[in-house]
Amino acid sequence: MTQTWDVVIVGGGLAGYVAANYLMNTNLSILILEKGKSIGGRARTNKMNGQYFNLGPHALYKKGKARHILEYLGIHLNGKSPKLGGILMEKNVEYTAPFSPLELFTTGLLHSKERLEWIAILLKISRINPEKLANQTFQQWINQVTQSKTIELLLYTLGRLATYCHAPEKISASVAVSHIKDAMGGVLYLDGGWQTIIDQLHNKAIVSGVHVQSHTLVKQIECNHTEDPFKLALSNGEEIFGKYVICTTGPHELIHMLGETASLPNRDFLAQITPVKGATLDVALTQLPNPKKLFAMGITDPLYYSVHSTYARLSDHSKNAVLHVFKYHHLDENADGPSVKNELEQFLDRLQPGWQQYVISRRFIPDITVSQRLPQIGDELKLQCSKTEIPRLYMAGDWTSPHSILAEGAISSGKQAAKEVILNEERQNYANYDGRVSAI
Ligand SMILES: Cc1cc2nc3c(=O)[nH]c(=O)nc-3n(C[C@H](O)[C@H](O)[C@H](O)COP(=O)(O)OP(=O)(O)OC[C@H]3O[C@@H](n4cnc5c(N)ncnc54)[C@H](O)[C@@H]3O)c2cc1C
Repeated sequence: MTQTWDVVIVGGGLAGYVAANYLMNTNLSILILEKGKSIGGRARTNKMNGQYFNLGPHALYKKGKARHILEYLGIHLNGKSPKLGGILMEKNVEYTAPFSPLELFTTGLLHSKERLEWIAILLKISRINPEKLANQTFQQWINQVTQSKTIELLLYTLGRLATYCHAPEKISASVAVSHIKDAMGGVLYLDGGWQTIIDQLHNKAIVSGVHVQSHTLVKQIECNHTEDPFKLALSNGEEIFGKYVICTTGPHELIHMLGETASLPNRDFLAQITPVKGATLDVALTQLPNPKKLFAMGITDPLYYSVHSTYARLSDHSKNAVLHVFKYHHLDENADGPSVKNELEQFLDRLQPGWQQYVISRRFIPDITVSQRLPQIGDELKLQCSKTEIPRLYMAGDWTSPHSILAEGAISSGKQAAKEVILNEERQNYANYDGRVSAI
């Protein structure tokens, strides 16, 4: 049966659900189509043997826009902030990470002159307006602010932690520094994982009349650049119609769904967007061999380790530990699964020797998209207000926000796309009303 909806949202991840939650109190009929069997996209959490595994390490900026938007929507974010600091590793040598005031003065990584320089740089970051750095890469900015090789490495490490991007020569300084600023405000690890955000958004949407259809891939979005609704061809053979479409897939899927014939002036830009990727080893243990080691990063090797369950309830058994080991892939990297797995396991061996004997569950994903866009200089000029240049087709998702990526980008763009739909409706209602008044 042919169905017509006011708004069809393609994708049931954070961006799609935030858009739906902003739209649900309008009179518009809303349908979310999700190709996966379950909802949540990359914010989903899998329960394995009583342990809650996010898809790799997930931390929400405490002072970011995403938290603010979620709280505005009535989403409860229960969890705790990990303590600042931990270990930085250079090959086999361990240093105290100079991320908190005490550690700044005790770390052997920096000599006394560098300590003062590092404090000055952290202060500079906290005061800087990142938008002023729009014309340079993160590497160019770092070369301007320090001559010290160690501080340069520290800034790369902090950049990876805050953005997941391991390409300082490519990533725009403006986005990198803006995310570092957010990260310096602390993060939250969530009880029950990020699925709790999705489930709350989903329940609110359903109660308000939003329809959600999972296991349904949108194959094609047909638009004829007129006032006619979009026609969407689905994997189950159905065709549905939508006055507005909010697409939250990646940029390449969007191009594919629109096909060659759609006039899309931004097509070349969308086609060259590259994702930020990494490898994750998610592990649940009955106990930590070394309970003092809770956070570590490689300084020269792009590696991350953190025990999330110390701060968030991620297991049905309070004594179990849930941790994530992660490798940030470089853009040109061809992830070789077995050797990356070995690298991550060896990193964990050094931090938690003998961990293998305590394993309850583990999951290794060699090559996963963390964010759909590695933000580059000038992107913000092409990504304006979730618009696609096709009227009534809006894009949302972690790649579509001009100034942010990750969940920050996904959540702000979901809100923005919904706002555009509402504005368009208001404009149209006003025009209709004006027309009726003139006719009288
Ligand atoms: C390992 C890892 C660690 C991360 N850590 C953090 C972190 O610490 N902090 C942070 O802020 N962010 C983090 N992120 C990023 C964050 O999870 C994502 O940015 C966010 O979840 C993306 O939401 P989205 O809605 O834009 O995209 P998605 O979650 O990908 O949602 C898009 C949805 O669209 C569906 N879809 C695609 N094509 C179609 C189609 N044709 N038809 C129907 N449905 C379709 C997909 O199945 C998917 O469910 C991490 C991600 C990963 C993978």
